[in-house]
Amino acid sequence: MMAESNVCIVGSMNMDLVVTTETMPQQGETVMGKDFSKNPGGKGANQAVAASRMGANVHFIGAVGDDTFGQTLLDNLTNEGIQTGGVEIIPEAATGTATIILSNQDNRIIVAPGANNGVTPELVERHRRLIAGSDVVLLQLEVPMETVVFSVEEAAKSGVPVILNPAPYQRLPDSVLQGVRWLTPNELEATELANDAPDETVREKWIVTRGAHGATFMENGQEKPVDGYTMKVNDTTGAGDTFNGALASALGVDASIDRAIQMANAAAALSVTKTGAQHGMPTKRQTEIFLQ
Ligand code: ATP
Repeated sequence: MMAESNVCIVGSMNMDLVVTTETMPQQGETVMGKDFSKNPGGKGANQAVAASRMGANVHFIGAVGDDTFGQTLLDNLTNEGIQTGGVEIIPEAATGTATIILSNQDNRIIVAPGANNGVTPELVERHRRLIAGSDVVLLQLEVPMETVVFSVEEAAKSGVPVILNPAPYQRLPDSVLQGVRWLTPNELEATELANDAPDETVREKWIVTRGAHGATFMENGQEKPVDGYTMKVNDTTGAGDTFNGALASALGVDASIDRAIQMANAAAALSVTKTGAQHGMPTKRQTEIFLQ
């Protein structure tokens, strides 16, 4: 059996508060909604769950508030087999939330980052040994940019490669563009990245996810496709997070880039057949069976 990879994720944890409604309220209006549910989310936590199910030993560095949502999110990570020694409880902050209003016509989302803004370089520094001891570091952009910069620097000190999922998209400082090993934009993010950082070396690092079309990556200066799968789509929420977590898990055990993208693409395809971000994420075994 292949050894487990050690993946360290520095990222966000949110409680997603989802309400469905027939009618979107107008300014000043109150409407009666339909269903309400609370689901653990946040790109950092979602990708951690994906990586863990795909066989990695995952250490998470992040923060929650001293409240019931925070405890639920911590318990959720623990139940998924993720090491939470790097998650701090910040007493004066609220746990991050995403309030999601879903109606037939449109969706509206408000993210209140709360404790995720408390994932500072100082917090990461207190847990730097988790970065130094990992095979791969996985980052997204739902914690402060200065923390992303610091985490990339810390990884470089120990020679640990970094995967950065540039979502939600923000312009990246040069030190990050140079310091990361792989960038994993979706198609929209890739367009923005190419506009902001026209330097060819950025393209050399990127693995672009292309929804139902799969993904592409650069090999010897050529864009190489990894075909997608035709699936019975139920809910694509979390497909990108599944791809990233699975990619980190595979790259951490020295898989070739082709093989790692193949695993990530298959895991993400499986995830769209089920509802919910974390709920729909497959295990490594399920992914291997699908690929046979
Ligand atoms: P999301 O925001 O929905 O989580 P994303 O915009 O970050 O996704 P996408 O490129 O849409 O990223 O999807 C990521 C991966 O998920 C794709 O590379 C592919 O492997 C898989 N995927 C997404 N949508 C589909 C689909 N309709 N059918 C099969 N696979 C899909």
